[in-house]
Amino acid sequence: MQDIKKNIQKIRAEIAAELKKSGREGEDITLVAVTKTHPVEAIDIALSGGISHFGENKVQEAVRKMPMISQPYDGFHFIGHLQSNKINQLLALKPLLIHSIGSLHLANKLHRALGRTNRSQEILIQVNVTAEESKSGVSFANAREMIYKIAGFSTLYVRGLMTIGKLDPDPEVSRPYFKQLKALFDEIRQNSPEGFDYLSMGMSHDWQIALQEGSNMLRIGSAIFGKRDYGAKQ
Ligand SMILES: *Cc1c(COP(=O)(O)O)cnc(C)c1O
Repeated sequence: MQDIKKNIQKIRAEIAAELKKSGREGEDITLVAVTKTHPVEAIDIALSGGISHFGENKVQEAVRKMPMISQPYDGFHFIGHLQSNKINQLLALKPLLIHSIGSLHLANKLHRALGRTNRSQEILIQVNVTAEESKSGVSFANAREMIYKIAGFSTLYVRGLMTIGKLDPDPEVSRPYFKQLKALFDEIRQNSPEGFDYLSMGMSHDWQIALQEGSNMLRIGSAIFGKRDYGAKQ
């Protein structure tokens, strides 16, 4: 626990150094601390240690933990697979950004739930660039068409794209996938009104590569909080 603040400082310094190397000094990078499986105590420490965005990947877990958070924050991010029967519970938590909209079907359900309560929601489209069956998200080939369709839903604001790189110990393996998504991101951004500006890619083991390839939103868990213990009581 006492390492959390140190880890945050270290990553912030590394991000700044990496940006400098690529001539992007001072650029605003959103660091989303991924708090899944970690206790509320750890979330509070991170929030008091300079983190202002955190992410969870399970609605149930977020529902249980969020009321106990005692520090202020700017944004709760939902980054996991969203089941349609959990949409209302998720919306009650007022997520700043949902990173994981990967199908028209889910977008439609979300749109209808939002419409019932007169709300709108900022989302990212999750693209399964690595085409791995274990991952959700729209395929790269179908992404463009789906993004434009979802952008037509009056309650949904598509703010950008999200992907998960290969879970290979060698992060270089993910570079071509990150590059591919950045190219799609730039293309859509050029043809979009303002507001399409988040590229969420990069986790603890591959964020440097993602940042070099143009990411501006990093989702980092274990490099801040240590290894996850799925057996532990949360
Ligand atoms: C768990 C998770 C992360 C963070 O993973 P680390 O390797 O611990 O940094 C990022 N994104 C998603 C979608 C996750 O589920």
